Amino acid sequence: MERFDLRGLLYRKNRLLNNITSSVYQLRMQLSQCIICHGSSDVHPQICTYCLANLPFFSIEKVGGDLLNWPAMNNLFKKRHFDRLISVTPYAWPMSHWINQFKYQRRHDYASLLGFVLQYQWHRANEELYDCSDIVISVPTHQRKWQLRGFNQAHLLAEAFSKYHQISYQDNLLRRVKYEQAQVGQSGTQRRKSVAGNFALSDRDQIAGKKVLLIDDVITTGATINEISRLLKSNYVKNVTVLTLCVSIDKC
Ligand SMILES: [Zn+2]
Repeated sequence: MERFDLRGLLYRKNRLLNNITSSVYQLRMQLSQCIICHGSSDVHPQICTYCLANLPFFSIEKVGGDLLNWPAMNNLFKKRHFDRLISVTPYAWPMSHWINQFKYQRRHDYASLLGFVLQYQWHRANEELYDCSDIVISVPTHQRKWQLRGFNQAHLLAEAFSKYHQISYQDNLLRRVKYEQAQVGQSGTQRRKSVAGNFALSDRDQIAGKKVLLIDDVITTGATINEISRLLKSNYVKNVTVLTLCVSIDKC
């Protein structure tokens, strides 16, 4: 009587599942269109190589991978606690439209595209910096706001970003402990006052001596990322690199 070969069966099952996953991805790529030119997408299901290359990127190569080396940006964030700044583009089309769809129209399918362009720019910056971070964290939202909105855009971005590399994403390390009302129209000074003491760390030992990559969607006044960076540095973090989709230069 023939012996039942469980290992062989599991091997064939896994191979079949891998083939199906690969075929589904290839089919998705064939069926998907670039959301800008509507041509066939190749580098990512939502964008083609040509349109990706033509996004209005900050020239990260000219500033050695760090936008703070650009005098104009350095002046905007003079009193800062973070060490480096990487951002994809100024707050302009098409990124402004995609972010709007993602945050306010609940188009969570944009998280994958935005995470992809975030890692694309981060990769280009890292080719200049040669100094990889140890852990990724994202700007947290207050639990009440999370319940009201149903999601935290910075968390979804960091999750999508983390699929492209091995740096550990620690989504429980940082908490927002104060609930804030809408911040629209506040000046830089008002923002700095209103975010002071808003955050807390859940595990100080885990972060001491580490190089942290802090992800947010858009920087406007920079008060939030600066307050988080201040907290991280006061807990012996080695350095903080801020990574965002956009810097809204005219609002700073
Ligand atoms: Zn295209």
